[in-house]
Amino acid sequence: MATFVNGIFLLQISIRIAKVYSFHSDSQRMIYINHINVSKYPLFVCLLLSFFIASAQEVDRQQLLRDIQYLSSDELGGRKPLTEGNQLAAQFIRDRFKSLGLTSQFKSYTQRVPLMGNRGNGEALGEGTNITAFIPGQDSDRLIVITAHYDHLGTTEAGAIFNGADDNASGTAALLALAEYFTKNKPRASIILAALDAEEMGLQGAKALVRDFPFSLEHVLVNVNMDMISRNVKSELYAAGTLHYPHLKPALENAAKGAKVTLKFGHDEPGIGADDWTKASDHAAFHDKGVPFVYFGVEDHPDYHKETDTFENIDPEFYYEAVRLIIRCVEKLDEALIP
Ligand SMILES: [Zn+2]
Repeated sequence: MATFVNGIFLLQISIRIAKVYSFHSDSQRMIYINHINVSKYPLFVCLLLSFFIASAQEVDRQQLLRDIQYLSSDELGGRKPLTEGNQLAAQFIRDRFKSLGLTSQFKSYTQRVPLMGNRGNGEALGEGTNITAFIPGQDSDRLIVITAHYDHLGTTEAGAIFNGADDNASGTAALLALAEYFTKNKPRASIILAALDAEEMGLQGAKALVRDFPFSLEHVLVNVNMDMISRNVKSELYAAGTLHYPHLKPALENAAKGAKVTLKFGHDEPGIGADDWTKASDHAAFHDKGVPFVYFGVEDHPDYHKETDTFENIDPEFYYEAVRLIIRCVEKLDEALIP
């Protein structure tokens, strides 16, 4: 008899857990859990809550680390534009967008990018590849464009590989984590995700995206760019750009409350030379057209643009927390910019 009762109880639990998973949003799940009679089913409610907390985890930590490890592996040879390793990275990103069921304004997620030598001013070298995907928003044709460059420096003349783990396998793997998160948690604004090529050759991928942007640039509320976000000895992540676009700052401050990584502002004042990051990465192409940007990145470290910028030298805990913080920032920006 006891076994029979336990069996019924387990069946009830299974049915309710299935029901929790049938809801599309976390808030619906919470309402359902709150309606269950806690005094009748104390153990059951605890179980449900723990399942709920696990399901609400916004970033799959293991996958994030697997992704950055693959993107910075020797197999990809430093991801220099026009090389086989660069194309392997592009295909990896394309496959992920496809497996998430995302669409794109570009055929096969691919925008061809004419590449020139001398940081865009020299002779034609061939075609690079931006990989973009689209997440339709709830009720708006306004857009948030999230970018990260996936290219890097290739190899030295002696054949040593620039793995570019922090620069910028970190931003690229984060882009994939954000793609998954915002596929499951629909934003208000529509999101364009762009893994950009040829940043290291003068932001040529970003400039091409802005030049052939599939919508009017006036629809873009903000460009969120990630470039080097996986390590900092002081556990600080910078959000640069709010000096130019102060209306973005309150949402970011709000997002940073309680975060395990410290969000710092700055690196955007004119006249401070290389410490001004306004033109330092792909967000500059958006800023040049008057599109507001937030650039997430860390202070330079001893392995910057060296063969030692490897997966082993990133800080997994900092990186994971930085990605969670950036997701929170995008959510708060989305809420603030479309009230
Ligand atoms: Zn970079």
